Parts: sequence; structure tokens; C-alpha cells
Amino acid sequence: MLKGNRSIERRIVNSLLGYTLFIIALLWMFQIILLKSYYQIMQKASIMQAGNQILNSFTDSDFETQLEHICFSHGMSCVVVDSKGEDCYSIDMLGRGSLIHSPAKATVGKMIEPIVNGDKEEIVVQVKNKRFRNDELIYAHSISDINGDKFIVILNASLDPVESTTGILKSQLRIIVALLIVVAYIMSKFVAKRLSQPIKNITQKAKGLATGEYTADYEGGGVTEIDELAQALNFSAEGLSKVEDLRREIVANISHDLKTPLTMIKAYAEMIRDLTGDNKKNRDLQLDVIITEADRLTGLVTDLIQISRDENETRRLSPEVFNLSKMISDITIRFEQTNPDYTIEICAEPDKLVFADKESIGQVLYNLISNAINYTGVDKTVKIALKEVSQKWVRVEIKDSGLGISKEELPLIWERYYRSRNTHQRAVAGSGLGLSIVKKALSQQNLPFGVKSEVQKGSCFWFEVTTMDQKQ
Ligand code: ADP
Repeated sequence: MLKGNRSIERRIVNSLLGYTLFIIALLWMFQIILLKSYYQIMQKASIMQAGNQILNSFTDSDFETQLEHICFSHGMSCVVVDSKGEDCYSIDMLGRGSLIHSPAKATVGKMIEPIVNGDKEEIVVQVKNKRFRNDELIYAHSISDINGDKFIVILNASLDPVESTTGILKSQLRIIVALLIVVAYIMSKFVAKRLSQPIKNITQKAKGLATGEYTADYEGGGVTEIDELAQALNFSAEGLSKVEDLRREIVANISHDLKTPLTMIKAYAEMIRDLTGDNKKNRDLQLDVIITEADRLTGLVTDLIQISRDENETRRLSPEVFNLSKMISDITIRFEQTNPDYTIEICAEPDKLVFADKESIGQVLYNLISNAINYTGVDKTVKIALKEVSQKWVRVEIKDSGLGISKEELPLIWERYYRSRNTHQRAVAGSGLGLSIVKKALSQQNLPFGVKSEVQKGSCFWFEVTTMDQKQ
């Protein structure tokens, strides 16, 4: 198996670790880098809120208590000054960092001048505390009491997040980072194993297909896509196993079919040489056997050549006009010569011209008549009919009186290498190729064909060809 960066395991580990690092970077950015800006926004909102609360409670009798509470809960310092600039209330929650309670108080005085002058009602400004080099926020708002006397509420908040908070966040983040990386690594290893292990098993077993090992049972490990792959391989292995069985059977059949006539030919030839001598009658009989067996061999080899030719290339059809009646009688004569004890009856109009590929029609007729002779009944009769069925078509029927073909077998006989298990009238040495050649030749020309058969009564194979009249 190919390993390295392209393996499922490595890819999953890399992706999950990459994703984890992205989350960590995001956390780091928000928690550490953007913490200050975030804190400043929050502090602005908080100082405004505290200001509003103070203004709302200004006229309350327990204002001082409420002021302390508000300053404490917001962590801010506050002074309320009267129109002369005197402090009426003063709460310091920032200690040394409080600008409004430090010697820099004068700077604040300048800032709130627009309020003192009555130009503005409220200001919120950011100031640098030079002493501690930190940023602070000043909020000021004018207000009058019930007597109409003017006051200014001044609030002071720090804009720098508390150092210890940042420190806590940083150490927390370090733990989270370590945990996330470990968990991501373990998880990715686990997931990768769950996915890759069944694939590795399947690959290992699939290698056996090349060496003819079709019995392996492929399992997908409960992952849908891999289950489907395993199922497809199980089907393929099953199919390959059937093909392999069929191949063995065919090789055995064909070897047997080739060997039987060869043994007969050899035996009869030896008989003529060693025993028959000049006995002409016996010699002719034995030579007839040799000729018949040689014919069988020729038929078998012709079928095999035809099949392999069909497999390798599709022969180009060359339709032409020819005399089908004459073709039937010529082929029949050949069969009569080789099967003198058989009767072949022809019922056909003379000189029926048709338009088709002559060579393949000859082959079809030859195979169908040969089958009819091979499988016909004790009367040893085959009937051939040629009739017009429409303006366009003429039909050829080849009938025998044999055992017929059962309904279950009818669709199978056209398959290559199919041979019925039934015993026939004659010991038939067939290859199971004849009808598949017929089917191929007729389908290639889009010609209709078929068979009607009744068990114990016989079969009638038929096909149709375009009449000449139609083509003119
Ligand atoms: P084979 O060489 O075995 O005859 P075919 O492809 O020509 O091969 O025929 C396939 C099978 O179809 C035969 O084995 C036989 O069982 C059946 N078959 C073909 N023609 C006939 C027929 N005229 N009567 C009965 N069975 C037939």
C-alpha cells in the first residue's frame, strides 16, 4: 500500500490538527490580542451606565450610599462638584490610579470646561495617565438639584484590563491548547483507523482476485461508502467465480467434444489399416464413420472460430439481394448427403429473392438445420418452410419432431455455451455455440427471430428476412 502524506490516516490527522490550530489562533486573537480593545468598549458602556444610575439617584435621600454602591460595583472613582468647583462627594475606587483624585486633577478640570461653561451637557473622553502610563476614561455630566443649584458628576475608570486577568487567561489558554492538540491527535488517529482499516483489509483480500481467490468475504466495517465498496467486490467475486466455473466447464466440454471424434477417427483408421484389408464394404462403412466424425470436428472448430471472431471484431455486414429458396435447397442437399437416413422436407416458393447479409443468413440456416437434425425425433424428419408473412417480410421455419424445449430452458438456449441437460434422441456432440451465433447474426441485422417448442412434440425455430420487393 502507498504510504506517506496521501494516506487517509495522515490526511485526517493533518486536517484535524490544522483545524485545532485554527481554533487556538482564533481564541488567542480574541482573548489576548483583542482583549484590550474589547475591554475599552465594555468600559465605555459601563461608565455611561454608571453615570445614568448616578444621575437618576441624585435627588434621592440616600444618594451618598447609592453613589458608593454604584462606584464599587463598576470599579470606578467619582467626584460630584458644585458650581464653585468644590467636591461635594468623592469616592476613590482606583486608588493611586485615579486621575480625579491625583495631582493631575487640574487636567481633568480643563477637560470638563465645556460643561462648566454650559456648552455641553455630557462628555466622555479618553486620557493618558502620565504617572502610570495607562489609559483612563473620564465621564462628566451636569445636573441640578431640586433647588436648581448646578453640579457636575465626574466618573473616572481605568481602560487597561487588569494584568492578573490577562495572566489567568493566558495560562488557561496554554492548558486548553495542550488539551486540544492531544485530544485532536487521539481523535484523528481513532477516526483514521476506523476508516482506513477496513479499506486495508479489503485491499489485502482484493489482491487475491488476481490469483483466482474468489471466496473472500469483503466487509466494510459499518461505514456506508466502504460497505458499498465491499458489497460491490462481493458481487464481482461471485460473478468472477461463476465465470471461472463456466470457463472450466467449457474447457472440459470442448476438450471432450474434440477428443471423442479424434479417438473414433484414429480407431477406425487403425481398423482399416490392420483388419479390414481389401474388404471394400467394411472399408467404406468405416471410412463413412471417419468422414462423419471429421465433419463434427469441422463443425465444432468452425463454431469456435466464429465465436472468437465475433468477440474480437464485429464483421462488417454487406447486405445484398440473393435467392433464399436456392440457398435453402443447396444447404439441404449438403445435409442430405451427410445424413442419408434423414428426411428433409422443403415447402418453399421457388426463387424467393431477399435482401440481407448472405454469409450470415447461410450460417443461420446451417446451424438451425444442423440442430433440427441433431435433436429431431425417431421419425428422423425435419421440415423447412419459406413463406411470405407480410409485404415486407418472408419467414423461414425449421421444424423438428424431437423432445422439444421446456419453458424454463427457452430463454437460456440462446446463451453462449448453453447446452440442455436433457438426453436427446441422438448422442449429440454440440458445443452450445450454434444458437448464440444465430442470435448474434440476426440481431446484428435487426431481423426478427424466435422459437416455438412443445415438450415431447418438437420445436420450430424461425427467422424473418426482408423481401426483395420492399427494397426496390
Ligand atoms: P449445441 O451445440 O449444444 O446444439 P446450440 O447453441 O445450437 O448448441 O443449442 C443450445 C441448446 O439448445 C442445445 O444444447 C439444446 O439443448 C437446445 N436446442 C437447440 N436446438 C434444439 C432443437 N431443435 N430441439 C431441442 N433442443 C434444441
